[in-house]
Amino acid sequence: MVLHALLAASLALTSLPASASTAVDCARVKCLALTFDDGPGPGTSALLDTLRKEGAKATFFLVGKRVEERPKVAKKALAQGHAIGNHTYSHASLPSRLDNEILDELKVTQELIGKATGQRPRMYRPPYGHTDDRVLGLAHQTDLAEVLWTGTTLDWSLRDAKKIEAAVLRLAKPNGVILLHDTVPATVKAMPKVLKELKKRGYTLVTVPTMLRGKGPTSGVSYFK
Ligand SMILES: [Zn+2]
Repeated sequence: MVLHALLAASLALTSLPASASTAVDCARVKCLALTFDDGPGPGTSALLDTLRKEGAKATFFLVGKRVEERPKVAKKALAQGHAIGNHTYSHASLPSRLDNEILDELKVTQELIGKATGQRPRMYRPPYGHTDDRVLGLAHQTDLAEVLWTGTTLDWSLRDAKKIEAAVLRLAKPNGVILLHDTVPATVKAMPKVLKELKKRGYTLVTVPTMLRGKGPTSGVSYFK
């Protein structure tokens, strides 16, 4: 009897998918993926609090050397149900680098994020969007999918919360992927209003893997070109 009960309890536990509480079907609802690159930075923790308050999920492409500085923020992002990706160790433009340099940029960051969060990313985003077939092949050797975007806010040059808000709302579209930076203070400042307005327009804010609906991310594939 006791064994039976234990078995039943363990089955109940293992049959619960990890994402059960956040399961969203983007074939049925209007999804949008906000992605934040270059962190974790000084404003990332506040941004995570804003996302939690609004019930929004996002994707963070982390820079390895910044994970070394703020490993706990990386862990907090994953713990709150956001997706984590690799954005190289030093924010290098990859196509001009040698194979072993590119592999180092990716692999060292995989290690650092794995150590900080307990989970290795399955996606990477090339800094500046600079990539080619060789870079994609080396990412595949590192078990990484490539994730680009459908709209870029240029928040780093706007540096104004109102302008960044307008850019996100202009670029938003069903199953869109918006590029932002959690290292830009005006972006963090803009998010409470942006999230409220997107919800008002009927968007559900999801991670990139949720948007791919179980069909990815697949290593060696480039998404949202
Ligand atoms: Zn970047």
